[in-house]
Amino acid sequence: MDAHLHIDQLSQQVADLSSCFVPGSSCLASSHSQKTLDTSRALCAKLPSSIKIFLSLGLHPQLPVFDEAEALADAAAAGSISAIGECGFDFFGDTPLRTRTPQNERLQRTIFEYQVNLALRHNLPMVLHLRKATDLIFEYINAMAQLPGLIFHGWTGPPNEAISLLKRCPRALFSFGTGLLNGNKKSQECVRQLPASALLTESDAPFQPPRERPEPGARVIREWSQPDDVAAVLRFMAELRGCQESELAAIIRSNFEQLFKD
Ligand SMILES: [Zn+2]
Repeated sequence: MDAHLHIDQLSQQVADLSSCFVPGSSCLASSHSQKTLDTSRALCAKLPSSIKIFLSLGLHPQLPVFDEAEALADAAAAGSISAIGECGFDFFGDTPLRTRTPQNERLQRTIFEYQVNLALRHNLPMVLHLRKATDLIFEYINAMAQLPGLIFHGWTGPPNEAISLLKRCPRALFSFGTGLLNGNKKSQECVRQLPASALLTESDAPFQPPRERPEPGARVIREWSQPDDVAAVLRFMAELRGCQESELAAIIRSNFEQLFKD
């Protein structure tokens, strides 16, 4: 299961897309505009039928504008997307727009609230992107608990926050990618402590190139991530939990399929 990837951007790295998916896998591909949604849909149509791709569309907090808001509302109403996102908050501080000022916070909140309302109206799951903003999510979590599902993509927060979000929103899922292999101790602790029913795997392809674990500063082995990197993530998750890989794979499949199934 790859709960989060960007197939249009992956196609710019990999010539033969079908070569980097595990046959029989299911994926959720996120887009941020009508144009990338259309491109993603066209790319999916060319993949073998053994690979199931569901599509989501969202207004990304790294591009906090309303340009695509109408397209998103139309797609949600038409039932042509399976989820809303990725969306959320980004106050990482690496660019002026991602710095937590009252003005930026207001803007990102407005865009986020618009999407929460759409998801509630159309009963769609949401895919969340959060950087340095978990406190804000606690303000919205009770409303989002009414959604069919809530995916915290690339979760890097501490286990106590994940568990407390899960308590308020039992349909929350915490998705882990190659970052887990790169030695993030908080993520590893989350994988150990969260119930298996709250776990997902993802590649965030092409944006999370895997490194050889476990040493910090390890060599980058590829310039991009791709969906079959999820196999290594799953293996490591099973190792962390001390369980069989096949057993965990079946649970993660069922977690994903509760939200996304034909
Ligand atoms: Zn992403």
